[in-house]
Amino acid sequence: MTSIDAADLKRMFDAIAEAIEADKDRLCQLDGVIGDADHGIAMALGFNAARDAVAPLELTATEPTALLNTAAKSFLNAVGASSGPLYATAFMRGAAAVKGKTTLTDADVVALFQAMAQGIQDRGKAEIGEKTMVDAWLPAAQAAAAAHAAGKPLSESLAAALEAAERGAEATKDMIAAKGRSSRLGERSLGHIDPGAASAVTVIGAMRKSLG
Ligand code: ADP
Ligand code: MG
Repeated sequence: MTSIDAADLKRMFDAIAEAIEADKDRLCQLDGVIGDADHGIAMALGFNAARDAVAPLELTATEPTALLNTAAKSFLNAVGASSGPLYATAFMRGAAAVKGKTTLTDADVVALFQAMAQGIQDRGKAEIGEKTMVDAWLPAAQAAAAAHAAGKPLSESLAAALEAAERGAEATKDMIAAKGRSSRLGERSLGHIDPGAASAVTVIGAMRKSLG
């Protein structure tokens, strides 16, 4: 069984920031088609801020929760776009899900992951099929939970999450946007991947690589 501590979570934020930075232009292009072309910039600002905020933290007994709350606050302050409060809520909920724990078991990481997805859904009130990041995050969380319940190790649970996120993001092509900026396009949003679902795949991929 894996054991994840605050130092591992710092490495996770490094990995996410690096992956998002590398994907920034593609995410802006996707957002340019059905939104305002800033999604890559917003995500890079948010994850660079989160990484920089958690890096100097001293490790104490409240480690993972304090670290995730710090990431949430810095993400929110750095991002003016709608992805700001969505990811901030994800990390705040993740923090609450592992409260009081110094090291995280596989079950704890899966619970953290599920809490993040639920936080995004609660904050944005989007349902599956409305062409948002929820279409990647929710199936990913369900797949991680199912794999964990079937006795799989964390690496396999996160790999299952990534596959589900990829399928979910791909499926947004056939959806009409019903939430956020792109909902103004109505049927003209058909045929294009939702940028927030695309970036969710990148985030989850980096989580799998660094935690799995
Ligand atoms: P903005 O639309 O303010 O420019 P971003 O470009 O950073 O924000 O993010 C756009 C993404 O945010 C969308 O592609 C979508 O995935 C996600 N999003 C927008 N509104 C919601 C919502 N209510 N619930 C979940 N996700 C949402
Ligand atoms: Mg945008």
